[in-house]
Amino acid sequence: MEHSHRFVVTIDGAAGTGKSSVAQELANRLGTDCLDTGAMYRAVAVLAIENEINPTEGFKLSSAIQKVGITFDWDNTPPTVLLGDEDISNRIRELDISGVVSIVAKQPEVREVLVKQQRKIGESHPFLVTEGRDQGSVVFPDAAIKFFLVAAVDERTKRRVKQLRASGTDVKDEEVQQDIESRDQLDSTRTDGPLTCPEGAIIIDTSSMT
Ligand code: C5P
Repeated sequence: MEHSHRFVVTIDGAAGTGKSSVAQELANRLGTDCLDTGAMYRAVAVLAIENEINPTEGFKLSSAIQKVGITFDWDNTPPTVLLGDEDISNRIRELDISGVVSIVAKQPEVREVLVKQQRKIGESHPFLVTEGRDQGSVVFPDAAIKFFLVAAVDERTKRRVKQLRASGTDVKDEEVQQDIESRDQLDSTRTDGPLTCPEGAIIIDTSSMT
């Protein structure tokens, strides 16, 4: 059991299962902070692209992360994502990032740095809703409540397409479905912190939910 001065809820699941919307809404209602760990891996993808670092070079990436810094500005809701002092909150949502993010997220050196940073964030934000792939299984195994969201792939595709079009990105359905399926494959088969249902998690199928 967690101590009373600490309350962490984890929400894990694949892309398009509704993690971000649910996490933000829950944090809002509980009055806690909300940590989007996918944004941190996306920031590493931006770092790799901007500095022309091969996304498979985990050691180079982890050194660059520690040198440049990936942080959140908690004064905003949702918190803005900073690479050094550059606000990359919109950049991380672009489609080219999706193609690189699961490759950088597969590198153990990258995960080691980010997992450490996420636990540190947990210490300074003891009332936290956190979402990702490994939050309940690896990062916060002692969380008070754990959720694992699932949804049918065609529904997840529809949601992502809608999101991307709303932000002005012109995408084809097949292209988005392919991206989701290839990330599912990479995320669930990696050895370090794979996408998995954490022990004791409440499973929710959001396919038919808004
Ligand atoms: O949640 P989102 O879809 O933005 O995450 C982007 C990518 O970041 C995922 O496809 C996955 O490769 C990686 N990720 C991860 N572990 C987390 C959160 C995200 O590996 N805790």
